[in-house]
Amino acid sequence: MTERAVVTGGAGFLGSHLCERLLAQGTSVICLDNFLTGSPQNVAHLMGRPGFRLIECDVTGFVHVPGDVDLVLHFASAASPIDYLKLPLETLKVGGLGTLHALGLAREKGARFILASTSEVYGDPLRHPQREDYWGNVNPVGPRSVYDEAKRYGEALTTAYRNSRGVNTGIVRIFNTYGPRMRPHDGRAIPTFMRQALLGEPLTVAGDGGQTRSICYVDDTVNGILALARSDLPGPVNIGNPEEMTILELAESIRDLAGSDSPIEFVDRPVDDPGVRRPDTTLARERLGWRPAVPRDAGLRRTLDWFAAELGVGAAARAA
Ligand code: NAD
Ligand code: UDP
Repeated sequence: MTERAVVTGGAGFLGSHLCERLLAQGTSVICLDNFLTGSPQNVAHLMGRPGFRLIECDVTGFVHVPGDVDLVLHFASAASPIDYLKLPLETLKVGGLGTLHALGLAREKGARFILASTSEVYGDPLRHPQREDYWGNVNPVGPRSVYDEAKRYGEALTTAYRNSRGVNTGIVRIFNTYGPRMRPHDGRAIPTFMRQALLGEPLTVAGDGGQTRSICYVDDTVNGILALARSDLPGPVNIGNPEEMTILELAESIRDLAGSDSPIEFVDRPVDDPGVRRPDTTLARERLGWRPAVPRDAGLRRTLDWFAAELGVGAAARAA
């Protein structure tokens, strides 16, 4: 019998790549999304394919899906700081009520449940790199708390459903992931720098750009998520590329790859912006046999080509 998966937030950046990969592996996919930060456009290429169904649905309400379900991947949630700062209550609700309903669905169907958690549960980390047994350093009343605490609560809910209701759960802590289908205006560093470099605008680096991130190409992240989904590991498991760089280095390398002469403009640093971030991926390597494979420049180039097409800035124009 064909495996059936439900992907909440399936019309978003990561969700759409998950839907695509699952379908390619022969899994039927039901994509649930309310298009708050995603768009049907992200899965337009999957519409009409056998085994794919898109249902407009807000998962903070009761979630009903007809038929059997083997896997529930709960990815619904604003993820870009600009989005979740604009949508504070929606973000808390989807992390709380949305996770509750997605867990309820998994329980009803006897399905494995995967929670998309985040490196943000470590907050502004005092331990570096971050291992899964680090409890984090989150400001519960700071502006980012709507996202960080929603995800921490989601982890607690998931753990409680596993322990008290016997649901087969897995928690993945995803670190900064990038790739095609990010929105040029979603406010995250990579789409912002790419848009700015391609359009010849200044690259807005926050603070002195000395803060670090470790960026992972979407295909690698999807491989890690599905490796966890197909295991019986409860997690949490970090999935991310441990290659760390400063934000200034990131801006400069995107500018170079784009062949752009945009200047760097230093702007105010957001409140509670984490100073460092790098996953310890020992657990994913040892228990899932997962490691990222796409070199940074190759991933950035693919993403840049996609943004160039989105923005109507031709590759030829970029090379000229
Ligand atoms: P995204 O904004 O592109 O996708 C989120 C999707 O969830 C959107 O399609 C949105 O419309 C949908 N959604 C939001 N609220 C909903 C609701 N109440 N009901 C139904 N759908 C709803 O973001 P993304 O980058 O693809 O992130 C997807 C998930 O992965 C999020 O849970 C995020 O926290 C997690 N994550 C992403 C990253 C990353 O680097 N992209 C890192 C860590 C964690
Ligand atoms: N950032 C930046 N310029 C931008 C957008 C983001 O310098 O136009 C910085 C941001 O302050 C943070 C880093 O880039 O230090 C990564 O930000 P992003 O929003 O991509 O992800 P997150 O903070 O969630 O890791």
